[in-house]
Amino acid sequence: VPAAHATPLIATIVIGLVLAFIFGLAAQRLRISPLVGYLLAGVAVGPFTPGFVADSSLAHELAEIGVILLMFAVGLHFSLNDLMAVRSIALPGAVVQIGVATLLGMALAWALGWSIAAGVVFGLALSVASTVVLTRALQERRILDTERGHIAVGWLVVEDLAMVLALVLLPALAGQGAGGGLTAQIREALGLDSAGLGGLVATIGITIAKVAAFAAVMLIAGRRLIPWLLHHVAHTGSRELFRLAVYAIALGVAFGAAELFGVSFALGAFMAGMVLSESQLSQRAAEEALPLRDAFAVLFFVSVGMLFDPGVLLRDPLGVLATVLIVVVGKSVAALLIVRAFGHPIHTALTISASLAQIGEFSFILAGLGVGLGLLPTEGRDLVLAGAILSILVNPLIFAAAEGGRFIHVRPFTLRRPRPAAAPLPAATPVPAASSAPEPVPAPEAEPAPEPPPHEVVVGYGRVGAVIGAGLRAAGRRVVVIEVAEDALAAARQDGAEVLEGNAADPEVLAAADLGRAARLFVTIPEAFEAGTVVEQARAAQPRIEILARVHSDAAAEHLTGLGASTVVSGEREIALRMLERAIGPNANLEQGSV
Ligand code: AMP
Repeated sequence: VPAAHATPLIATIVIGLVLAFIFGLAAQRLRISPLVGYLLAGVAVGPFTPGFVADSSLAHELAEIGVILLMFAVGLHFSLNDLMAVRSIALPGAVVQIGVATLLGMALAWALGWSIAAGVVFGLALSVASTVVLTRALQERRILDTERGHIAVGWLVVEDLAMVLALVLLPALAGQGAGGGLTAQIREALGLDSAGLGGLVATIGITIAKVAAFAAVMLIAGRRLIPWLLHHVAHTGSRELFRLAVYAIALGVAFGAAELFGVSFALGAFMAGMVLSESQLSQRAAEEALPLRDAFAVLFFVSVGMLFDPGVLLRDPLGVLATVLIVVVGKSVAALLIVRAFGHPIHTALTISASLAQIGEFSFILAGLGVGLGLLPTEGRDLVLAGAILSILVNPLIFAAAEGGRFIHVRPFTLRRPRPAAAPLPAATPVPAASSAPEPVPAPEAEPAPEPPPHEVVVGYGRVGAVIGAGLRAAGRRVVVIEVAEDALAAARQDGAEVLEGNAADPEVLAAADLGRAARLFVTIPEAFEAGTVVEQARAAQPRIEILARVHSDAAAEHLTGLGASTVVSGEREIALRMLERAIGPNANLEQGSV
């Protein structure tokens, strides 16, 4: 097929996504996880099955993008405090689990007659869970933001760090180990002299120093620079640039981290996300700008499937079985015991065990390097791959089992959990005063006597803006609407409003609404960042104008009030109060401090 040969990148993306879609849909139909479909799609386009063969090194690189975006998104949900809060369990937990898995792997390697070095590489490869699988699993079950989820992610971060170290150390160890695994040439290429222990210690030291330097750069400079950059871009009023900024930050930091500091892409992206997570707004905004993430995550699974040689299942079924047992049972039992030993409840232990009972990308990288260095027989890599595929396949089942056990305990836990997270927020903002008015449609209230020929400016003419606009028109007001969407503009015209087409965050568009003569400005767009830009500009231009803004969270309320909104109305709160009103009557909102 000429097209596939001429454009291998496009062919890989297209065929990977199309097949993943078809197989994923089929899997869904059969009531199994779509991940299984994605993996099988990979096997189908891999070199070990007949038919089209996609370019596996390209697929692998594409998959890396998926890993970066996913890890960035995980970081967005994860603050430094979260990380610190779980370090007392995640650190020893991960270390012990890596130790146990490595020992089990060495035992299997011994049984298969491999060298000790092969056993170490093999065992390490079995000890580190896949970021993609873990985050997908936690996200799907909405436990990423629970304490269990935090422990699992923190644990994963420690494993990631350990693997970064392992990847750097392996070549050095290969130089040392077992006498003559490496030729002098390879040693030289890897920058190793035969200095032995001194060289090894230096390598460890340099690696740790690099990771520490990266962390320091991110926590000191990145923490200020990245949110500032996003904020700045948001204020240009261009959504396109904002999205671009998010991708540039996620990918740029990950790449820079790998190039400059030798840190994995995943870890770099995670840190980039984490420094953004402190501002809830930038976090939300960044998340919304990440629609590519899922597509690339799918390519990750396809690329894993591609590496798989199904033949190994026939050649060495016992080895495969033992590998899977180490990953699924051995590691889980170890994790379970550790978490319990630290006094966490059984359902926490079960969730963490289940989420870590699989292996993925790091394992392939490690096994590949081991084979390259002549430490691990290729058979070892095949076993790692088989172990990865099978453990990813059964992971949903393991989770279902673990979550089944969780059910007994889930109630007190989930009830307790959201509090600390939400604690600083409730009603601390100036929202209540405004939003406790039961009427979400602002009736003419406290009007500043209309001396000039006033008009009302409504930004956004969707579900919220249209109701306001129609109401104002019915009351005989002059209304100017700013809208981006064609159909919404048409609706505004129909209601008899004057319309301005364009993004209200664009200073020129906003200026055209002639705020100087307006009575008020209704900012009804849902996105808080954009709304903030509108409010800020309007307030700067018109210190006295009344600005009413729609919000969806306490953080957004605070943000907009800070930028100059006179009144913020929280959509969700009004919905809740209206519903509550049915049961308790219009005084339902007394609980939030009535006037
Ligand atoms: P709804 O969430 O249904 O109230 O719809 C919000 C409306 O706001 C949609 O019609 C959007 O097209 C519009 N909108 C969103 N952002 C902007 C913006 N920056 N400038 C103008 N209109 C916007």
